[in-house]
Amino acid sequence: MTRLTGFSLLFSRTGQSRRGLTTLLRAGLLTLVALCLSPAYSPALADDAEPLLAYGARIAGDDARTRVVIDFDRKPAFSVHYVANPVRVIVDLPETSFGLKPEDLKARGLFSDIRYGGMGAGSSRVVLTATRPVAVALAEVKEDEGGKGFRLVIDAEFVTQDRFSQLLEQQKWSIVATTGKTGRLAEPAANDGSFVIAVDAGHGGIDTGAVGVATKTEEKKVTLAFAEEMTGALNKETGIKAFLTRSKDEFLSLSQRVQIARQHGANLFISIHADTLKQKDIRGATVYTISDKASDHLAANLAERENLSDEIAGVALETEPAEVADILIDLTRRETQAFSVNLARSVVSSFEGRIKLINNPHRYAGFQVLRAPDVPSVLLELGFLSNKDDEKLLLDPKWRSKVSERLVEAVRHYRNGAVGNGG
Ligand SMILES: [Zn+2]
Repeated sequence: MTRLTGFSLLFSRTGQSRRGLTTLLRAGLLTLVALCLSPAYSPALADDAEPLLAYGARIAGDDARTRVVIDFDRKPAFSVHYVANPVRVIVDLPETSFGLKPEDLKARGLFSDIRYGGMGAGSSRVVLTATRPVAVALAEVKEDEGGKGFRLVIDAEFVTQDRFSQLLEQQKWSIVATTGKTGRLAEPAANDGSFVIAVDAGHGGIDTGAVGVATKTEEKKVTLAFAEEMTGALNKETGIKAFLTRSKDEFLSLSQRVQIARQHGANLFISIHADTLKQKDIRGATVYTISDKASDHLAANLAERENLSDEIAGVALETEPAEVADILIDLTRRETQAFSVNLARSVVSSFEGRIKLINNPHRYAGFQVLRAPDVPSVLLELGFLSNKDDEKLLLDPKWRSKVSERLVEAVRHYRNGAVGNGG
């Protein structure tokens, strides 16, 4: 029943352009989804439109062999593959709602971290991060006695690094065999002269982001509520067309977010976040732009954590995409960078005195989601879910509309300054 699929090969090629890599990523996702949903691959797939329900789970074992069991209301189709650095076992499922208690799948034995959630496009995923190289010795679906439902049983066992490398190598071959028929990316939409703004709700699906210190509210929900409000407010402005990169609770990789903005011909990209810090007293909004060198430790740490988003969801990036050594792209990038800084300054000055800001509110670091070479991009950290006062504001609809109004003002200011510069 186990089938090994994965993205590893897709990312082992260097010298690809960013667009090419993203195309490959999309293709990989499509292939994977197709595999999950293909009746030939799994005749047992419950093809009802309703998502599957995972209503219970257990984990048992030690650091030599660990068993994970998940209870479903119907028979789930599934596929398993591996990702390296760190070692992970990825279980892909059709769309599933997870009615599990956090303690049901508390990491133990060979696994140091377990996450599950939606991946978008009607699929869901369980990511089991292992403490050492592992192999899946058994992966099967069994019917419960009495016909109550079905349980998915995954047995992982400790293997040598050599054996794990072999398993990765084998799954590359299975990708080669299946990547023939893949979807194509849509052509960029023709721009009708509007000023197009991509509003990106940080995190989503399997990647919940930070969690509120008092209410345990997930960052992915906070960011979506703000992104929706901001998009609505921006769309009231003449000549502006704002859109959401995600409009529901789904996972998007960092490069997909960038690519969606570019496909829509976006003039601006604004990513919304509300993270947590170890220093619980720090509060206020921050605007980030991209830079190879971080402005400070706080910015560097935050970018590092944000860039883990793909890893959390089990998206394999074995090699970093090679930067394109092209002087024209380099010039575009530099010009874009200047526009990004202008936008960040506009946001800071429109917030000043009205929305609480952190000290030195414009900071910079190597955020992957801000790397579009041709779309001025900022990451807006609205406040910190680790601070009780900020958390209260972040959950307050009145504050949300106030922030959105200030953002509209910042974009207005930016556009006035950018007239004639094509920004
Ligand atoms: Zn975040």
